[in-house]
Amino acid sequence: MVPQQPDLWQGPQGKPGGRIFTRVGDLLDFIGLTPDQIPDLDPCPLTFGLKVPSAFAERMRQDPKDPLLRQVLPLGSERQIVAGYSQDPVADRRAERIPGLLVKYAGRALLIVTGACAIHCRYCFRRHLKYPPLWPNLEAIFAVLAADMSLSEVILSGGDPLMLPDDRLAELIARLEQITHLKRLRIHSRLPVVWPERLNDRLAEILLGSRLTAILVIQANHPHELSESVGQALSEWRSLGLTLLNQSVLLRGVNDRVETLAELSERLFACGILPYYLHALDPVAGSAHFAVEETQARCLLSELRARLPGYLVPRWVREQAGASAKQPLG
Ligand code: SF4
Repeated sequence: MVPQQPDLWQGPQGKPGGRIFTRVGDLLDFIGLTPDQIPDLDPCPLTFGLKVPSAFAERMRQDPKDPLLRQVLPLGSERQIVAGYSQDPVADRRAERIPGLLVKYAGRALLIVTGACAIHCRYCFRRHLKYPPLWPNLEAIFAVLAADMSLSEVILSGGDPLMLPDDRLAELIARLEQITHLKRLRIHSRLPVVWPERLNDRLAEILLGSRLTAILVIQANHPHELSESVGQALSEWRSLGLTLLNQSVLLRGVNDRVETLAELSERLFACGILPYYLHALDPVAGSAHFAVEETQARCLLSELRARLPGYLVPRWVREQAGASAKQPLG
């Protein structure tokens, strides 16, 4: 039998980004576990396959309940149909002005710059959505943005917008800068946590050199995600004067303990990042096993407030389809 070669992840810049796991057995082998140790494992998910870079897998522990492993491991329960869980739980499709451009909230427009991600998070609210490529619609998107004087902020999202090479991002940002009523550029990305090398000097130059005020919103759900190299990369970016925020999702079996949430906030702050949002799980089909009961979540937030100064307590919110803003909870 010919041994299977490991997949190699090239990284968004075309540089070697280390190994990328797309087979459940390979990932478990890497962290020293066997499939029979994971109850309800789905080794071959029908959709939304496994995708985990080794840079992230290295932070997992040899524990079937590891909180980082749980975020990426496909389970059989994802196939169950659960009432209230749908393919587009926050009605992204309804908010689409033209393919690639979403307008949900006053003053802000969101661009889906790519459908690709460095990692597949099982709880992702966009896990079932297929995105048409943005680039063929780019001129039409710029025309809409230029005509809508109410807009002051553009959010680059995806997928993960930092999967784009720096030159592509620079071109996109340069075009956005020409729209005079735009003031801010927000980037939502999991890459700084998953693969901190993505925070390179060229990207910092592009953002710091822009007339748009740049805000980078990362996503870490558990303190173990914030390894030393992640912390160092983020602290360096913070020292350059960039605004860094974090948003997390409250996930059963991952961060549903007050000790974990408190440690996450402390660790984020030590890396120069403010804990911004703690999202209630968006009810996307296949994610019901991550749901935390609202009464439990309320207790967690109340305990967190009792332990931490206010600036370390993230705002607990839910995105509600069709609402004009995120809904505060608690
Ligand atoms: S869009 Fe974000 S949350 Fe969803 S799979 Fe990609 S990296 Fe994970």
